[in-house]
Amino acid sequence: MPQVKLTDTTLRDAHQSLIATRMRTRDMLPIAEKMDEIGFFSLEVWGGATFDTSIRYLNEDPWDRLRALKKIIRKTPLQMLLRGQNLVGYRHYSDDIVVKFVEHAAESGIDIFRIFDAVNDIRNMEVSIKTARRVGAHVQGTVCYTISPVHPIPLYVKMAKELEEMGCDSLCIKDMAGLISPQNAFDLVKALKEEISIPVDLHSHCTSGMAPMSYMFACEAGVDILDTAFSPFAWGTSQPPTETTVAALRGTPYDTGLDLFMLTEIKKYFEEVKEKYRGILDPISERIDTNVLKYQIPGGMLSNLVSQLKEQNALDKYDAVLAEMPRVREELGYPPLVTPTSQIVGTQAVLNVLMGERYKVVPKEVRDYVKGLYGRTPAPISKEMIAKILGDDKPITVRPADLLPPELDRVTKEAQALGIVKKPEDILTYALYPAIAPKFLRGETKEETLEAPKSGNGKAAPMPTEFRVEVDGDEFNVKILSAGGGIAISAAPGQESPKKIDGSITASMQGMVLKIKVKKGDAVSKGDVVMVLEAMKMENNIHAPHGGSVKDIFVKEGNTVSAGDALIMIG
Ligand code: MN
Repeated sequence: MPQVKLTDTTLRDAHQSLIATRMRTRDMLPIAEKMDEIGFFSLEVWGGATFDTSIRYLNEDPWDRLRALKKIIRKTPLQMLLRGQNLVGYRHYSDDIVVKFVEHAAESGIDIFRIFDAVNDIRNMEVSIKTARRVGAHVQGTVCYTISPVHPIPLYVKMAKELEEMGCDSLCIKDMAGLISPQNAFDLVKALKEEISIPVDLHSHCTSGMAPMSYMFACEAGVDILDTAFSPFAWGTSQPPTETTVAALRGTPYDTGLDLFMLTEIKKYFEEVKEKYRGILDPISERIDTNVLKYQIPGGMLSNLVSQLKEQNALDKYDAVLAEMPRVREELGYPPLVTPTSQIVGTQAVLNVLMGERYKVVPKEVRDYVKGLYGRTPAPISKEMIAKILGDDKPITVRPADLLPPELDRVTKEAQALGIVKKPEDILTYALYPAIAPKFLRGETKEETLEAPKSGNGKAAPMPTEFRVEVDGDEFNVKILSAGGGIAISAAPGQESPKKIDGSITASMQGMVLKIKVKKGDAVSKGDVVMVLEAMKMENNIHAPHGGSVKDIFVKEGNTVSAGDALIMIG
């Protein structure tokens, strides 16, 4: 009798960790039937960042992917990762959206919902857990594992007991950064097995190199399920390899009973798939990085951080950003680093380093977090930090979603008015990603290329064209960039005389213009939000530095801008 079961993550977490979630559905379907034959406890195939990436970069409908996999995978339960009240987005959604999303995910093929909250605030998990139970799905309640002065083992046990009482069918220890040591894994699993009766799953990453050893110790403490990925998509910031785990546990009391020969055939397929993605595979994600023991960066975040810094042309600041991260984390009350808190801490750390002054720029998401809109922070945030970030605003104490009025009717009407609703789930896609969903649902999103852009190669990299023009006596560089489906024109002040343009506000970082809140001729006061820039998946308000009237706007909503590009002129 097999003693330990495996959840294979190749089609979700593994490619999220190693190739920034870029695996295409067409590379999953040909092997799905074979994967279904193995006898895994479950296949993790959906949720996490797969939703965002599909519509943002791959021109793929995530719902279609799920249904296509479900059609082939008939025996093995399909599993998704759900961020509690955040679902598969980056903010809290109203309860009616959460209910609808969970219902629709179950209808579309999800059998097991792994539900977590980034700050381990169970209030943020209640509605999704209740809904998943009501629709008859298996609910895997999750504790996010982290190391901090405010995270002792009894705290996790207490949370696990609450999740069991809420009706969860199994419990996951989510070690998203690969921090758990063999001894900690043993102690935690043992403590959990003594106090709860539902199966315990250990989910870890190889980032620090300890995961395979921690899995072995977890087995000795009685773990029921382990998360692994096929070896071509294992190691590095991903999970331990499936085949290796099966072989290692053979002949022990924890034998998985899985067929190594069949696993090897699937491995061969994924080796070929990996070659296709070689161009976007980041060497940093592939290696063991013991820095994680110090900085606690989860798998998916490292590769994102690298691409964020590349975008900002600041890869040389990588080490400085890594060092800034634990400082920010402590100041923000030791949140476990997992989406969205990893983005919140990570982006603030990037901004603190890039701006040359700590907390000079604070994105909306960081303010919301400090305000309590993401839930209770593990440790309280100091009064000084709260005052610095919130000003006169006060933090909340209630369940964050209690403050959110129902949204479903409003977004349904909005989506219908935009003419983008062809199937019921289009409303959900729009509700979760209002900025990028319309373009995707209109079929205007282009699948990005698989090669890393090469300079000097016109086919692989968009060729920017620059012009120098004169407007009202001021000189500008006008850059024409190819931005997805269309052409974006952004104007930048002439390099020799940027200071000549009085009142022009420039972008402090590379990003996309999300919203323009004023029009030419409008009167503005100092501090007014004139524009919202999306950079590094965070919204940054652009404030008027002084009062006056809007003389000119150099960008349009949806435009891509670079650091230093002029956005608006206020005279
Ligand atoms: Mn993970």
